[in-house]
Amino acid sequence: MSRIPPLIADFSVCHGCSLCLLVCPIWHQKHDVFLTAKGRAKGLQQGSKCKDLSDSILSCTLCGACEPVCPEQLDVRRIILRLRRQLFIQQKERYANIVAKVQASFKTISEKNVYQFHHGRVLLAGKHLHEQPDVLARIQRLLGKKVEIASDDAWDIALAVEAGIDIPTQRLEQFLKPLRTAKQVIVTDGILHRSLGLWLPESIDVTNLGQALSQLSAVRKQLQPTDLYIIEERSYHSDYQRLVKYYDTLRQEKQCQFNLDLQRIAVPTTRNSIHHELGLISVDYKQQVEWILSHRNVERVVVEHILDKQAFQSVTALPVIHLAEVA
Ligand code: SF4
Ligand code: SF4
Repeated sequence: MSRIPPLIADFSVCHGCSLCLLVCPIWHQKHDVFLTAKGRAKGLQQGSKCKDLSDSILSCTLCGACEPVCPEQLDVRRIILRLRRQLFIQQKERYANIVAKVQASFKTISEKNVYQFHHGRVLLAGKHLHEQPDVLARIQRLLGKKVEIASDDAWDIALAVEAGIDIPTQRLEQFLKPLRTAKQVIVTDGILHRSLGLWLPESIDVTNLGQALSQLSAVRKQLQPTDLYIIEERSYHSDYQRLVKYYDTLRQEKQCQFNLDLQRIAVPTTRNSIHHELGLISVDYKQQVEWILSHRNVERVVVEHILDKQAFQSVTALPVIHLAEVA
């Protein structure tokens, strides 16, 4: 059985139930059905071309919140990535800057510097955690010496996946080859969680940093009922069937609040989307986090993704800490 349950990457099966609208941050902010999974599916069913749907294709944050609720099990993110690829090919000149920026990020790593690790557990920390060395050092201390931080954290690959831009085969293979010998790969970026789940053999456990940290007793015992715990949405929705059970147990045990709605979909902060990297306009993440905070009686915000720390600090005077900082 596949680790990532197969979804259907065929917009024609959408029957227009609108359930995806309820969880979509774009719908929440813009109230424009054209910018949602339903809007794109209906547009394509009626013969719209990529260029007609360009705003919709580019605005999706790939949060994945719509996938667990879709009764047709539509693989909304795979469809978006396919459409982005087509759009950039068909409208080459218009999107040349975006494509050039992503392509310029591709790393060239000489064979002798290809990452090697020794203990079987590896953390892909990502660009933003490397910019916060104090937090990264705490994570390393908590996870222990047997979790190695990969020097190649594939930031360029994550960016290209999200943009729907082809990754040079050699670069991808250079990144994946050492990972294939791992027992566990811990990711901070939900886009990589999903992709690695598809690229790596099923025997390799791909998990999110939130789970890796919150299952440690040193971290778990410090979570309080007065905490608001912010799950990183893209990892969560990439492995929803498994993680929904994990976070249910955590919630029952610690009694803290989560950014989960009644259907246990993680309300997206959207702070970790490509739009902020590339200067594209999609959703206002401050509105999202204000919405998540509204009507809550909490004393502290605990986040799994380092960018969510900055996002919440920008709108609240409550203490906001990364999960690694609770212990
Ligand atoms: S939830 Fe699925 S079937 Fe329903 S409108 Fe959205 S994409 Fe279509
Ligand atoms: S992936 Fe997120 S932003 Fe994109 S259509 Fe689904 S819910 Fe909306």
